[in-house]
Amino acid sequence: MQIGAGLRIDGAATAASARAAVARGAAALAARGAPAPGLATVLVGEDPASHVYVASKQKAAREAGFHSERHLLSADATQDELLRVIARLNADQAIHGILVQLPLPRQIDSGPILDAIAPEKDVDGFHPINVGRLATGDPRAIAPCTPAGAMILIREAAAALGRSLAGLDAVVIGRSNIVGKPMAQLLLAENMTVTIAHSRTRDLPGTVRRADVVIAAVGRPLMVKGDWIKPGAIVIDVGINRIPAPELGLDAQGREKTRLVGDVDYAGALARAGAITPVPGGVGPMTIAMLMANTLAAAERAAGA
Ligand code: NAD
Repeated sequence: MQIGAGLRIDGAATAASARAAVARGAAALAARGAPAPGLATVLVGEDPASHVYVASKQKAAREAGFHSERHLLSADATQDELLRVIARLNADQAIHGILVQLPLPRQIDSGPILDAIAPEKDVDGFHPINVGRLATGDPRAIAPCTPAGAMILIREAAAALGRSLAGLDAVVIGRSNIVGKPMAQLLLAENMTVTIAHSRTRDLPGTVRRADVVIAAVGRPLMVKGDWIKPGAIVIDVGINRIPAPELGLDAQGREKTRLVGDVDYAGALARAGAITPVPGGVGPMTIAMLMANTLAAAERAAGA
């Protein structure tokens, strides 16, 4: 972390140490003669962004010393074909984590697909059993990767600021099943007072102004303004948005360059926040690190560790 007006939370550094800890955990399993953690990624179709995400997950798995498999189905694969792949992976003892890359093509109904993954191998944490376990505080819950990663950054920031989380007011902007709702559960588990704001919230600026911890997970570039931030607040920006960047000139093909920004006006918020994540380099790198951590934990449970 760097000290400026607020602390800049270095998600890339925290993710690197989390991944190193996972690699040590995998080595410890191997030293006991247990099988390497096995991660199977399942990809349907040719969506270029999905291929990039899956390649980076596989690379991280290999670097952690995991066994890694990719199952590629054609874009016209049927629901039954995909269910058969999942059934095979559920029964495969070398596989501890199954990740079906979303979004799936139109002809596939993703709900029954996610439901078919064995809950103990559901390293994305999207299965209703894991959603329920997270809500009830069951230690067997597998938490979704992005909010789990955000939670680690919040704990680190609070420690750096010398603050305890219990009793703080947290506002989560966004109520998706992947980020907003599980984020709220994790904050509640830390005894924070949690508000979930969303597209129908009246007076979003006023709601955010009361927050000691703000998590923005909307997908709207620079929506949260600097003057919405309570002085000293911890600000976690989950949003990833690509916007035109005329100031960067043209690319090799003569097109206007673009850049990534979050949901928070970083410069404005940095001046008031106690600590804030940048985009890129904040929450993003934590997501893959948490996928590795969830897979290691699943392998440890399978080995009775
Ligand atoms: P989503 O589209 O499923 O949900 C967005 C939420 O924002 C909705 O619940 C909606 O109610 C709320 N919202 C929309 N407009 C709003 C407004 N004007 N005011 C208040 N709330 C509003 O998105 P998601 O999957 O939760 O992702 C959110 C963002 O996080 C996206 O930018 C996505 O790219 C990013 N994301 C990042 C990571 C990561 O690894 N860093 C992972 C997942 C998602």
